[in-house]
Amino acid sequence: MTKKRVLIIGAGLAGIAAAVELSRHGYQVRLVESRPRLGGRASSITDPTTGELIDNCQHVNMGCCTGFQKLCRLTGTSQFLTNEKRLHFIGLDGRINVLKNSLLPAPAHLAISFAQLSYLTWQEKRALAVALLRLKRANRPASGAFIDWLKTQKQSCNTIDRFWNVVLVSALSEDLDRIDFYHARKVFLDGFLRGRNAWKVQLLKIPLGEFYDRHLQNWLKEHAATIDLLTGLKEFLVQNEHDRFTVTGAQMRDGSILKADHYLLAVSHDRARPLLPEAASNVEPFSKTGDLESAPITSVHLWFDRPVTQLRHAVLINRLGQWVFNRTAILEQNSPPSGHYYQVVISNSRAIKNKISNSQEELATLILQELEQIWPRTSSAKLLHSRVITEHRAVFSVTPGVEALRPPQQTPIWNLQIAGDWTNTGWPSTMESAVRSGFLAANNIINNDNNNGRKPARLHKE
Ligand SMILES: Cc1cc2nc3c(=O)[nH]c(=O)nc-3n(C[C@H](O)[C@H](O)[C@H](O)COP(=O)(O)OP(=O)(O)OC[C@H]3O[C@@H](n4cnc5c(N)ncnc54)[C@H](O)[C@@H]3O)c2cc1C
Repeated sequence: MTKKRVLIIGAGLAGIAAAVELSRHGYQVRLVESRPRLGGRASSITDPTTGELIDNCQHVNMGCCTGFQKLCRLTGTSQFLTNEKRLHFIGLDGRINVLKNSLLPAPAHLAISFAQLSYLTWQEKRALAVALLRLKRANRPASGAFIDWLKTQKQSCNTIDRFWNVVLVSALSEDLDRIDFYHARKVFLDGFLRGRNAWKVQLLKIPLGEFYDRHLQNWLKEHAATIDLLTGLKEFLVQNEHDRFTVTGAQMRDGSILKADHYLLAVSHDRARPLLPEAASNVEPFSKTGDLESAPITSVHLWFDRPVTQLRHAVLINRLGQWVFNRTAILEQNSPPSGHYYQVVISNSRAIKNKISNSQEELATLILQELEQIWPRTSSAKLLHSRVITEHRAVFSVTPGVEALRPPQQTPIWNLQIAGDWTNTGWPSTMESAVRSGFLAANNIINNDNNNGRKPARLHKE
């Protein structure tokens, strides 16, 4: 039997996950990507000064992110994911608060760690515990904004700043008053309350670029998939027969036309709308894709001549830098080639503009000063090199009402699927959402074929 052909456009994690799922189900997959590298928003670049492959930003997975774990399992790459058993929260006084499991069952497994937080009073901790339990049982409020719910929960400004804000800005990269209730609740429910291992951070021990190029790419090639880099889609060619639309080809930017049985568009939300054929982009909720907003994330990369902390990572409370990652330790480099490498992440970094002028050096200096306050030995370390990377459209914003703007993977055109973290997965803008969307889109194709070519029902136009 001849294999059915699928053309996947976009080799971010959504496109890669779809390619893996379809390849293992016997499809002939062609994955095309406009950039010279795989990975999209979660990728690596070579730093010209150190010559090292560095990630555009530290990417964090969590124990509750089972889709990403499945991708690793399927491709034999689980051994590259660490399972961090502790999180460190460092208050303004420099004290390290360790978050770790107690012997208590979920949802009380972290209660002892929360009870010991040095930067909240007993009264604040009690109110926090009550609010977390209420959140577990809460229904979606009418307004949709998490801040409105929080205001009814007798949380002090301190608790909002030092707990709710710290967790949610890191997880969702948005201001508290721009976060949808559903997504905020999901972070605490899935990440902290549901299971004993859900909160555990997982980090790749290798740069993202190596993860794709040395491992996922090889797995795909071994499963007969083809990958074309520097190959961009211009538009889909669509045929309309009695109001039944079919994609008949993909016109590429170089003028060539690629043909397949199924097409899967796995690009980011800001790129998708102009590429969707009218028969799909005129239909709700696909027509609303353009209403999704984006938020930036900035990472400050610092190389020192000696270690400034042995901690593998730390969450900083009430600082400009929100999360420090000891990349040398995570990458398990005993003799780091270009110095001891740390990365400081600032989610929702549009707020930086209010604090400093636009200079990268100024930002790196401010972050350095913060590290010196926390770990005084930073002052005696020599900064060998620094680099600031801002991804302006890092994630889509989970603003109140966002779920109504996220389309399903099956488009109104029977042989065209979409995937991407922004499509309807129920997850915020994460690797997990991207991978889940890829699996969902791939399974739609498999199911459509298994249904003997029966086409899905048409959606109504606006
Ligand atoms: C700085 C930063 C930090 C982040 N931190 C985390 C984190 O800690 N944890 C986490 O889970 N997530 C994090 N994320 C989010 C995560 O990276 C994304 O959710 C995920 O990578 C999105 O994958 P995707 O495949 O949906 O989209 P993308 O990665 O955007 O992939 C789309 C691909 O399509 C390609 N493309 C676009 N147009 C065309 C065309 N016309 N033809 C061919 N190809 C095209 C693009 O080049 C791109 O490679 C972070 C993102 C950023 C930017």
